[in-house]
Amino acid sequence: MAKRTQNNDLFRSAADIEADTPISVGVTTVGPEGFLAFQPMSLLDWASNFPIKDMKRLKFSLPGGRSDAEAVLGFFGVDSPQHWQSALPAASLALRQTQVLNARSEAVTAWVREAEIVASQIPLVDYDEAKLRSSLTELRGLTREQFDIAIEKAQVICSHVGVALVIVPELPGTRLSGCTRWLSDTHVLVGLTTRYKKDDQLWFTFFHEIGHVLLHRERLSFVVDNAAEYISDDVVDSGMSFYEDEANQFAADTLIPPAALTNFLDLHGETLTNDEIHNFAESIGVGPGIVVGRLQRDKVLEWHQGNALKQTVDWGFAEEEY
Ligand SMILES: [Zn+2]
Repeated sequence: MAKRTQNNDLFRSAADIEADTPISVGVTTVGPEGFLAFQPMSLLDWASNFPIKDMKRLKFSLPGGRSDAEAVLGFFGVDSPQHWQSALPAASLALRQTQVLNARSEAVTAWVREAEIVASQIPLVDYDEAKLRSSLTELRGLTREQFDIAIEKAQVICSHVGVALVIVPELPGTRLSGCTRWLSDTHVLVGLTTRYKKDDQLWFTFFHEIGHVLLHRERLSFVVDNAAEYISDDVVDSGMSFYEDEANQFAADTLIPPAALTNFLDLHGETLTNDEIHNFAESIGVGPGIVVGRLQRDKVLEWHQGNALKQTVDWGFAEEEY
């Protein structure tokens, strides 16, 4: 098994590097100050702001048999652009995000809306915090299984505790990693994008969102997380970083108990072969890619090291480069 070595990784594409970077520290919440004054515009002008071509390509739930503008209205369940603005606080989400996202606010709202539509089709019991907490061990154990099967199992487990877990393809330019939204007093949506191509990134995002569910219900009823590499500190509300840190800590500690990690590094930190990482992952009941991802984030490993232990996630549909 490979020892840790220092290699320059000159041949990786920018996309590969992006896919390996730490995830999900951005946050957006919606408050009264988050609302834009809606500028009246024609239906066609309004609809043209949505990435309809991509929404069709990615099989979003646009009603068929209508003009594009009417399809967008139907998708949101509103009868006018003004109604869309007042009915969907998500319309103002991008105000607290980066300039990149600001220009894509309609796409962000479309992604959230699609997550809601998919979630509405999942039979849910009432939210049960104790049961969710007691399901965490089983959920983290899924990281050992083949990714696509594991996600389906996670969706079932979540539905039994009142959490609608949905995967929605990322719309170009939005750079979202996930969202948590309380749909009612008894149901909560956890949405994940198809942004990440490695299992550790996706599972980390999942447990990050579960952290928002368990820890922040009273304060954050609607959180949209965007990928770390596009967050600018002067745009993101600094008051929110506390919640992001908590959710990240929750994800990290739920996946890998801190004491076990400390012991492992004390014993093997100097050599750290793939075999040792694999055995440690087995001993704590998670997939080896989870451990590699954590060690990379903690800079124990370089970003190019240990990746053979991760699962590559195939989302099963063609995605265009953007
Ligand atoms: Zn978050």
